[in-house]
Amino acid sequence: MTPGPGKTATPTRPGTRSESLLAWFRTNRRPLPWRVRPDPYRIWVAEVLLQQTRVAQAVPYYERFVARFPDLRALAGAPRSEVLRAWQGAGYYDRARRLHEAARCVARDRGGRIPGTVEELEQLPGVGRYIARAVASLAYGVPAVALEANGLRVAARWTREEADPRTARARARLEAALARELPPSSPGPFNEAIMELGETICLPEAPRCPACPVSFGCRAYRELDDPASVPRRPAGRHRPHLRAAVVALTERGRWLVQRRPPGGLLGDLWEFPGGRIEPGEAPAHAARRELREETGGTVRRLAPAGVVRHGYSHFTVELHVFRGISGSRRPVTGRTRRWATPDELRRLPLPRATEKIVDRLNAPDRPSPGSGSRRGRTTVSRRPASRRRPGRALRRGTAPSGGRSRARR
Ligand code: SF4
Repeated sequence: MTPGPGKTATPTRPGTRSESLLAWFRTNRRPLPWRVRPDPYRIWVAEVLLQQTRVAQAVPYYERFVARFPDLRALAGAPRSEVLRAWQGAGYYDRARRLHEAARCVARDRGGRIPGTVEELEQLPGVGRYIARAVASLAYGVPAVALEANGLRVAARWTREEADPRTARARARLEAALARELPPSSPGPFNEAIMELGETICLPEAPRCPACPVSFGCRAYRELDDPASVPRRPAGRHRPHLRAAVVALTERGRWLVQRRPPGGLLGDLWEFPGGRIEPGEAPAHAARRELREETGGTVRRLAPAGVVRHGYSHFTVELHVFRGISGSRRPVTGRTRRWATPDELRRLPLPRATEKIVDRLNAPDRPSPGSGSRRGRTTVSRRPASRRRPGRALRRGTAPSGGRSRARR
């Protein structure tokens, strides 16, 4: 295995990947309440809760639930309404209903003993592949690999799985790969350790590889510049799409710009006023409305200047850009909103999307309906290419914007 660019071979290799993982887990294992006095019932309850809830959020719900229903018989004997009440706040109430139903099945058909094989567990209401394997391995030491989202991510990075690990084929490949190194004497701790690694070290966006006990055996780390690129994001990952209107308002050769609040997305960068287009609203109407609501000013001679599209890490946006001349009511200006000459604008830090808008405004003869000739237009000085710098958010790895805080573009 050749180390990736800029990486060195891990000098010491304490053992196999599973040995190193288990050694790390023994000293870094968090004292979570379902680990304190584990039994099949508590492990089951915890795994059901953790299906849709992060560990830190799940703890109080788990404690409340097992305090109210300390064992399977207590749960099975309780009315549904009480079970749901004890689950209150944890969300996804169907999980509680199915757990309750399954507990009743176990109490009625199995004398209250939770089954110990993957196959039997999978027969119970609400028990799928992962929970069956987790309960069987953690509670009964069955040698089964149990991979939830964290475990899938870790396994995908170890093996450099190219496909989406949530697909049945990729999951089967990952389970098979890990089954080959599953220690027969401790399958439960192995499964728990992988999840723990995924929750605390092998994070989705920024894995802490230098702190990872198994980096020596991780293909994503050894072979790629960016281990976080595995697993590959599904092609169809949905990013919300927003529509917003932006007004490039001019007055005596200056442009109205405003600074975004510090600390938030694109904090302290400057942009043109604007905001989200409401459903069913015409872009020009949104432009006038947003300008008025945001700055107190009005606009005359509003003319469309095209559409700028931009992608952020978590959403995409189309910005309907308008040129406008300041109307009878002037915008309120101050520390965070001002008129800027083209030269001043050139020196202000702008989000990438606003830079795109500036480019659009400067584009030669890009006529838009009703815009007429370019005579009298204010041209925005654009930062020379060599002096351009990405917006602060871009440097942070998030996407930039170009408008009003309400729309958070
Ligand atoms: S080396 Fe990095 S990517 Fe690989 S398992 Fe460890 S934390 Fe995850």
